[in-house]
This record gives sequence, C-alpha cells and structure tokens, in this order.
Amino acid sequence: MSADARASTPPAALLDAAREAWRNAYAPYSGFRVGAALRTVDGRVFAGANVENASYGLARCAEQSAIQAMASAGERRFDALVVVTDTAPPAAPCGACRQVLSEFDDEARVWLVSLDGAAVVATTVAALLPGAFTLPPRTLAAHTPAPATADADTSGDAAVEASDDRP
Ligand SMILES: [Zn+2]
Repeated sequence: MSADARASTPPAALLDAAREAWRNAYAPYSGFRVGAALRTVDGRVFAGANVENASYGLARCAEQSAIQAMASAGERRFDALVVVTDTAPPAAPCGACRQVLSEFDDEARVWLVSLDGAAVVATTVAALLPGAFTLPPRTLAAHTPAPATADADTSGDAAVEASDDRP
C-alpha cells in the first residue's frame, strides 16, 4: 500500500493538475466548473474538465474527460483521482461518472476537494458505487491497446511510391 493510500490529504501533484483543469473548464451555461486528475498505476497523470454544450445533454463531466484522456493514451488502470469544485463540502461525482470510473478501477482512492483545499472528502470508487454494473467476462487485459503492426504506418507511402515508379 502506497503512502498516500491511507492519507486523508490528496497527492499534491494530482491536486495541482485538478486545479489547472478546473481553471480550463468550459461551463458557460451552468457556471459550475469541475476539474479532475487521475494517476495511473504507472504514475502518469491525466486531467479533465467539464465541457458543456449549447445542447445541454451533450455536456461531458470532468471525471469522464480525464478517463477518456487516460484510455486514449493506452492506459487502463488508475489508483488515485482528485476532483476539485469551488464548493464546500466539495461536490461528489455524478452517478454516470461513478459507473465510468468503476469500469477502470474499483479500488482507486478518490479525494473530493474544495478549490481552496480547505474541505476534503477521502473515499474510493467502490465506496462511491457499490454494486456497479459489469459485463462478464471483465478482464482489463483483454482490452489493452492493440499492438502496432509493422506495415501500418508505411502502407500509404508504399502505394504512392509504387505509383511514382510507373512508366
Ligand atoms: Zn459526472
């Protein structure tokens, strides 16, 4: 168990990243900014902000933005998440985000933090969403990024070169 696994205060680097994401939130309709930052088991940090839309239903939560960034980079597991809101007590993830977080790691620690850092709620993904929906078989190993293929990047160039060689 890592040092911060029992800590009631969030990892400083994650808090900084979540605050930066909070500043970047696009929330012109609600005015409610949210910043999230997660740390993968390999120590990489991915952040996300809420991004709203004139078509309200298309708004994306900060937690989901962070998960999208993580998965898009080929990472599949995280062990810590910080969510920042300018409220005290700090806001908790919505139900949809709890399910999205649960997809990648039930055991991850979660810190909900007010923007000024004065209010902190320490919890876990599992505590936020007991009885999460899953589909069997649920093996993250089966969903690792596909390996690069040897000719994937050059097939287009080869076709151009072949046409250039025509008489
Ligand atoms: Zn949400």
